This record gives sequence, structure tokens and C-alpha cells, in this order.
Amino acid sequence: MKVYGRITVFPIMPARINRLYELAYNVWWSWHPEARTLYSSLDPELWEQVSHNPVHFLSKIQPQKLEQAAENNDYLTLYDSVIRDFDHYIHPQPEETWFATTYPELQDKTIAYFSAEFGLHESLPIYSGGLGILSGDHCKEASDLGLPFVGVGFLYPQGYFSQRVNREGTQEASYDKLHFSEAPAVPAVGPDGNEVVISVELPGRRIYAKVWKLLVGRVPLYLMDTDIPPNAPADRELSARLYGGDHEMRISQEIVLGIGGVRALRALGISPAAWHLNEGHAAFLSLERCRELIEAGLSFNEAREVVKANSLFTTHTPVPAGNDAFSYELMDKYFNSYWDKLGLTREQFLEVAREDHSWGPSYSMTILALKLTGQHNGVSALHGDVSRKMWQFLWPGLDKDEVPIGSITNGVHTFSWIAPELNALYGRYLDKDWGQHVDEQDFWDKNIQNIPDIELWKAHHQRKEALADYATRRLKQQHLRLGEGDRQLAEFEGMLNPNALIFGFARRFATYKRATLIFRNLEKLRRILNNPERPVQIVFAGKAHPADEPGKALIEYIYKMSRSEEFKGKIIFLENYDIDMARYLVSGTDVWLNNPIRPYEASGTSGQKAALNGQPNCSILDGWWAEGFNGKNGWAIGEEREYRDQEIQAEDDSNSLYHILEDEIIPTFFDQDSEGVPHRWINYMKEAIRTCAPQFSMRRMVKDYTNVYYVPEMRQSIRVEQNHYEHERQLSAWKEHVYPAWSKLELYVDGRRDGQLSLGESIDVHAWVRSDELKPEDLRVELVYGETQDEQALLRHSLPMEYVKRENDGSYRYDIQLKPEDSGSLAYNIRVIPAHPSLTEKYELGLIRWA
Ligand SMILES: *Cc1c(COP(=O)(O)O)cnc(C)c1O
Repeated sequence: MKVYGRITVFPIMPARINRLYELAYNVWWSWHPEARTLYSSLDPELWEQVSHNPVHFLSKIQPQKLEQAAENNDYLTLYDSVIRDFDHYIHPQPEETWFATTYPELQDKTIAYFSAEFGLHESLPIYSGGLGILSGDHCKEASDLGLPFVGVGFLYPQGYFSQRVNREGTQEASYDKLHFSEAPAVPAVGPDGNEVVISVELPGRRIYAKVWKLLVGRVPLYLMDTDIPPNAPADRELSARLYGGDHEMRISQEIVLGIGGVRALRALGISPAAWHLNEGHAAFLSLERCRELIEAGLSFNEAREVVKANSLFTTHTPVPAGNDAFSYELMDKYFNSYWDKLGLTREQFLEVAREDHSWGPSYSMTILALKLTGQHNGVSALHGDVSRKMWQFLWPGLDKDEVPIGSITNGVHTFSWIAPELNALYGRYLDKDWGQHVDEQDFWDKNIQNIPDIELWKAHHQRKEALADYATRRLKQQHLRLGEGDRQLAEFEGMLNPNALIFGFARRFATYKRATLIFRNLEKLRRILNNPERPVQIVFAGKAHPADEPGKALIEYIYKMSRSEEFKGKIIFLENYDIDMARYLVSGTDVWLNNPIRPYEASGTSGQKAALNGQPNCSILDGWWAEGFNGKNGWAIGEEREYRDQEIQAEDDSNSLYHILEDEIIPTFFDQDSEGVPHRWINYMKEAIRTCAPQFSMRRMVKDYTNVYYVPEMRQSIRVEQNHYEHERQLSAWKEHVYPAWSKLELYVDGRRDGQLSLGESIDVHAWVRSDELKPEDLRVELVYGETQDEQALLRHSLPMEYVKRENDGSYRYDIQLKPEDSGSLAYNIRVIPAHPSLTEKYELGLIRWA
């Protein structure tokens, strides 16, 4: 039958347990196992069938099962306790959340967080990988901490693809339709009580998007969907898939996300005081905010100051494919009626986000985001450094270390990723409420040794058994589909051995992650995997982007290896990696392996989930592990350096990996006492938990974002409103005055150019700045100094010079005494930059003059 409409009919719920509905519509259940038990225990088989989605589950369950439950005392006890926890969570006392107690005056403000993907639960396939999981975890923690926070994104009806791997190892993508009536989302309504539908202009037409509301604890997520009637069929498909389609599809989606997202918030009556662009996909939102302000009477430059004052951009990858850029042709087609509204010419409009390539200029979403936000960050210390180098050209004259891109290292939402057995163990030996102390390093330092080795080992073993069962189930399913016979299917029975040393490798199959590095020397790998005394297995999982042929080739290679006679049962590939599988893997393998090409892994988070569950990492010193590794909580592959030649890098890294496996990991793991308990190994496990659980928690991360970025933005936002954009107008006028004046500015210095000094002595340095247009208060003159290394001067310190007077010839004189604190070889220089009290970033003009 051709389908016209689709209606989901729920059974009548017995009154005693009727809040099961309400509970189903808040993904709070995704990080509360007892809440999930309320559903799964009613019908475990159905629970599996519906991918653990309680809304879908309730639409399918037999009414008798509900009636029986409503009379079962054990069930009712659990029900009452879950409902009590839920109510308490949703309506806490004001003093019970971190945000309310830390920043009571900002409680009525809103932080808006824009992301193209949100990874909340396996039943909502609106994420593709790490970026989405991070956004999902961010929302959950924002809820836990009581942040006044809303998310904005897409409800893709077909989501990201499901992966099937066929007999040849070829990845096949299938898109399953997500029926919104079965998703835990409801239509969002505005202050007038009507459902919210917004629109944006695309070439030759207007496109509409319906806004859905999905509750993540206390945090609402507003998700847009273009599959609604007024749109033409092609437009209804526009938001069908995440990262599907061509550049036109991509730019259209990003217009809906950025421009449409702002309109959705306005229609909902929400005016955020802080805006967070999670990756460049949403960067058009800043243009839309400018357009609103221009309509209210500001110029583009003034509007830009207002927008920058309270927005943050987080960049997530140094890989070019992860940084969207559009051709000018495409920009002309999609924005030719928009730049007028910004009061800009085409050239001015394009210039804002111009990136030059060998094939010509393009419009870069990352540059747009960097130019129209006041704050920017990368996602680990190393990635911050890589990003400063990568985007340094936008701040000409600045030393790399001074490029205004900071860093906050990613983390994971503890209760979404802790396995139940480990959760119970921590509850028993650390503290009943250990979750309250997640980000307190002291707490872990003090208590980790309370866990008896044998208990940790038992809990870990239970996880290994759970993974082994899960793997058998999945492998059988896959090969049944591929038409294999009973004898072949029987091979998967007990294929994963809980007594073996099991390595886990699961992530997107992007080539820079080098999934096949361990196969580089097959001779060595054979030796490692074929010692009957010391069984070792490796489990692989992950999807390649459907258009990434080299990524798909890696999957094929690994799949074929896993089916080959010599590696069968040693190398295992599980298809369709998702959140559910991730939970099994990060808690059920023994060592988490990660070997990307340094420094392309901006952070990585799966290893953090593994460490939380007691798995040491064995990883390249890239992303978060460059900070996390301490010599006792896992292993570091290769050296902390960069290579010119990726082949040589792979050769060195793989040799290092084999060495670590053979000489360290395997002997340590199999050094077991008479009960089979490997005490030396367990030291690594405990050290992994102690060091990583607090440092790489989402709690630490969201607190950092709040303290470092959101709160200053919210305060800035209050100031902007109070003085009706006056500071921003002045700042903008001042900048318009400074830019043309800068080229005529002159700087002279008088100081010693070489010589010797004894420690304790100082030298006098004088500088003169000549400018007809700029005044001393417009300028900051600095002495910058640092040690020299290999002829390179490392500029470590900058000291402001004191303005002394205006000389007779009109120049401004500045003085300073340089008194070195350490002996050694020192270099110094003088520079002048524009200064204004309203600047959020000292170097934001990108103007600098060195002597
Ligand atoms: C955590 C997670 C990721 C991200 O892992 P990385 O280590 O950043 O590659 C990707 N996919 C799923 C399903 C995850 O759970």
C-alpha cells in the first residue's frame, strides 16, 4: 500500500504507571539504567527490536504486560523510585545545581548551542561520529549542571546510514526512515501556543522547516525538519540525511541550520545571551544575527562587534575535508539577495570569509566563524596549537603562540559511558554518590586504592563476557543475512574469548586514523596473535563516510583479514558501529588502541570512555592522550613529533607499536597470580581510572566552557544591552579610524642591540611612535622578549612600555627597563598594537608593527 499518513496509537496506560509516557519523552533515560529497566523488563525482546527506544516500545507493547506490571509490587517499587529521581532531577531546589549556586545572577539568561549533529542514543541516528557524541554529551552535562542551555540542530528523518558489510567486505549504506511519531520528540510551540514553522530563502523559492523539541533532562533541543508539505519534494529531502548529497545540499542545510536556527529561536521567544558554534557548519547564524541588528539600525561593522561580543566558535579538526568551503559561484547563487540586507557589496561580503587556494578563492565556513565570533577554541592543548598554526595567516604579524585560539580538551559524559558493573563497584568502594565528585581529582586520588584488585578484575571480566556474547550475536546476525550455513554460524559461538587479551579499535574509518597500521608487518602480527599460551584478539568496528573510497577500502581489508584462515577468530570486525556497540566495546576490551597520524586527531573521546571503565590506552601521543598519558596509565606509541613523510612515520609508529605489544603489554597482562589475577595489569587499570575519569569528564569540560567562555559572554551581553550597543558602536567607529591610519604609523627604537649583562643588571629601552591620526591611548607599545634557541627567538614574555611624553616633533615616547630574571641567551624586540578598552581580544584587529 502507498502510505499517505502514519499515526502511532498507544495502548491505554494503567493509571498507576501512567507516567511511563512522560518519562519516555525525556532522554534522561539514556543515562539512567533503572529508567531503561522500567521498559526493558516489561518485554526484553521487544526492547531489542525497537533499538531501546521507549516511545516506540510503548506503541508496540501488549496492553496485558502493562496491566500485569501495574500490579507487580517489585515493578511498582522500581517505578516509584525512578519517578522520584526524575522529578527531583527536573525540579531541583535552586541551591542544588552547580550553575545556580555559582552564577545565580545569570540564571535567567540563555546559552544557545548550534551543532549539525547530536549523538544522544542509538535510537536517534542524528550523529555520525565523535562530533555528534560530543554535542550529545555536552547537552546532558549542561542539564546535570543546571546551565540555562538550549541546543539547535536537525532532526534528520533518515539520519546517518546503517552499515552492512557484504561477503567481499564492501560497505553498503542503508538509510532507515525514522518516524517522528516514534521518536522522543514533540512539535515545539511558540509563546502563542502554535507549532513553530520557520522559513529561509533558497534560490528562487522559500523553504520551510518545522521545529521539534527533544528534552535532554532539563535542556531542550530544538531540531529542524524540512520534510513538511509546503516544500517541493526535493526540498523535503533536504534535511533527510546527515552529510549526504553534494555541495548544494550542504550549503542549503547550513543555511537552514544557521539562519533558520536563529529564526527558530526567535519564534520560540528565546534570545540567547551567549552563542556557541560547535564547528563551522552553523556559521551562517552570525550573518543572520548581523542582519537582525542592521534591520534595527546598526551598520555591518557595528553589528559585527555586537555579534562577536557574545559568541564562541569551537573548531574540531585540522583535516581539510572537515573544514567546509564553498565556491564563489555557489555563494552567488545562494546569497545574491542576502548581502544587500547586510549593507554589503558582493566583494565585501565574500571578503569576510575569503580563503585562497591554488585554484582560486573560496568561502570558508571556518574563516567565517573565526571572523564573526569573539572567542575561539580547539579541543585539546595540542589541537589548540595546531589550530593557531593553521589559521595564523588570519592574524598577520602575530607569533603563532599569540594567535587568539585557545583550547578546552574534550571529555565524556560519565553516566552515559560507565558500565553498570563498574558503576556499582565505584558506588561500593569510592563513594555511594561518587557521581557527585566526578571532576574532583582529589577524590579519585584518595579513593582509588579502596577498590580490591580482585573486585575490579571480576567486574571487568563480566564486561568481557557481555562483549563476547554481544559479538557472537552480531556476527551471527550479519552472516545469517549473508546466507551462511549452520556450520559457519557455529564458528561465531564463543569466538571472542574472555580470557584472551582483547584489543579494541573502533572509530570512523577516516584514512588519517590508520586502522590498518597494525597489519603493516604481517610476520610480526602473526607472531603476536598465534601464541597459544597467550591468546590475543583484536576487535575492529567503524563506518567510513559513504563517499570515502579509501576509507571503505580499509574496512574491506580488515574484513577480509577477519575471514582469512590465518586470522579467523583473532581479528574480528563488527558491523554498524553505533552508541550501543560503543558501550560494549569501551567497557569490554582490555586495551584501547588508537594510532592516528599525529597531529590530525584533534582530541578523540572513545579512549576516554575506555579509561573511565578501567581500560588503559595504547595510543599515539595525539589529541587528548598527549595530555592524558603519564607513563603509568597506558602506553604511548611513537614519538612526540611531526614527520615530513607519512610512510616513514607509519614505519616508525608501527615498529613502536609492535615493540610495546610484545615487550610490555602482553607480558604484563599475562603476569597473573594463581587465581588468574594480573596485579601489575590492574595497577595500569586503576591508574587509567584515577587520572582520566576526572580530567576527561564532560563535567570538567562543561565547567571550563562555562567559566572561560559562556559566563564572560553572558556578562558582556548584559553590558551590550544596557548601553544600547554604545560601546560596540564606538569600537566599530574606532576600528574604522585605526585601519587606514595604521599603514602610516612609524616606530623607532633606541636600545642595546648586543652585548653582555650580569644577572641583576638591566638595560633601558626607549621607543618612539609617530602617527598623525592615532593617540597614545589608541596604542599599546610592548617589549617582547624570550630566550633564543637554534637562532630562533622564542617570544615568551611581553611587557607594556610606559608612555612618557609627546616630543617636540610630535612623536610619542615610551620607556622601559628590561631586567632579565634568568641567565642565558636572550632576544627582545618592540612592537606596537592598537588598544581599546572594549576589545575582547588583545590582537583581534590583526594589526601589529614590529621595530
Ligand atoms: C565515542 C564515539 C566516537 C568518537 O570516538 P573517537 O575516539 O573520537 O574516534 C565515535 N562513534 C561512536 C559511536 C562513539 O561512541
